[in-house]
Amino acid sequence: MKNPLAHLSLLSKIMLSTSIAITLHFAVTGWIVQRQFFRSASQTLEEEVQGSFKSYESLWQARADQLSAVSMVLSRMSDVRAAFGTHDHLTIRDTAEEIWRSLAGQNPLDAESVHLAGFPKVEPEWQDAGMAKKWERLLEIRTAVQAALEEQRRNKVIGSSLEAVVEIQANPETYSFLKAYEADLSTFFIVSAAKLTELRRPDEPEFTVAVSKATAKKCERCWNYREAVGTNAAHPTLCDRCVEAVQ
Ligand SMILES: [Zn+2]
Repeated sequence: MKNPLAHLSLLSKIMLSTSIAITLHFAVTGWIVQRQFFRSASQTLEEEVQGSFKSYESLWQARADQLSAVSMVLSRMSDVRAAFGTHDHLTIRDTAEEIWRSLAGQNPLDAESVHLAGFPKVEPEWQDAGMAKKWERLLEIRTAVQAALEEQRRNKVIGSSLEAVVEIQANPETYSFLKAYEADLSTFFIVSAAKLTELRRPDEPEFTVAVSKATAKKCERCWNYREAVGTNAAHPTLCDRCVEAVQ
């Protein structure tokens, strides 16, 4: 059989084989990078987030202003928050890179890209076993809340988690543990409101979670459903927190 490439000049053959080699090289590199990224982004996301929470607890003490500014920005970006729920890898990747660049110059990890950096080394004096234990418990409770939210999402009671109001009924011990974080629970669960009540019956489980649809109006700035929306004449479409932020 006649070689179909026989009529090509040597230069054309070299160029053709070079371009095939380059294409293959990029395809293989891309596949490896994507595989690595997806593996670390999906399978270990939960572990990394849990690990990050612990590191952030320590970092928070030293970098309070910087981190609270970043977390404030993130908490206002509903599409970014949603990306963590839906495992939207591209949004998570791009947002991480954007934050990394905005911290350039103040960054203790000397890496060009967040994807080339390792996790920060936690200073031994920042280790706090008591705090780590509290976070473990908070994360366990949050996992239960997320499961309840997911169920109501499947039942079409809510769409996004911000459409939800969560009520936690807890035994006295869990109640007093959560009471210390009561003001932050809605942010922690990414819901519009979190109510905490105490159950005094001894046969009750540690806690139960009830999810209902928020009845308050939606704030057009933060997308939380809050009773305060509509109460400020100057900003009738904003909630109390957003009115404070824009004033
Ligand atoms: Zn708001």
